[in-house]
Amino acid sequence: MHELTEKEFNSFKRICEKDGIKYDTEEEYREAARNLFEYVKLTYEMAREHHGWEQRLKDEPRGFWLDSAGRTCYVCHTNVHGQIWFDKWGLKCANCQEAFEKKVFPGYVLKDRDNEKHVTDSQLNWKYGVCPRTIKKLTRTGLLKARQIPNGPAIFLRKENPDLPQIIRDYKKPAPSSSNK
Ligand SMILES: [Zn+2]
Repeated sequence: MHELTEKEFNSFKRICEKDGIKYDTEEEYREAARNLFEYVKLTYEMAREHHGWEQRLKDEPRGFWLDSAGRTCYVCHTNVHGQIWFDKWGLKCANCQEAFEKKVFPGYVLKDRDNEKHVTDSQLNWKYGVCPRTIKKLTRTGLLKARQIPNGPAIFLRKENPDLPQIIRDYKKPAPSSSNK
């Protein structure tokens, strides 16, 4: 993709004026335009790359390894430096991919970005406020049914844990005002 041209810069300025966005100096306009341009370029390149992978899936429907310099595994959310697996469900680190092949968890977990169908142990902690020790205890006693990825997170499928909302209500850490800190 080319660099930002004068014509594009001028049209950026016009759009700013129309939308009531004001910068004090010409240099600030240029910087804002450059930032937007870089952002669009990056988004476009990512979309194009993704499209390329989708095309490749037609010949390799099971999926394939990609070089990764910090891409995120959709399952355990760690940044992968090395090889990452891509298939119709998305990106998986080698560890999660191995567990997936052994059918430890279903593929829909990768698409379930809003936790409507599953939640991981670390999400139960940071997103829903249940402490890790409690999660382990509930799993051990069978109140929570976990799909444990070896060396990875525990996954709780909502359909296997219909009481999850109630459990979260019951075991949530107390609000800061009622704790010692
Ligand atoms: Zn992973």
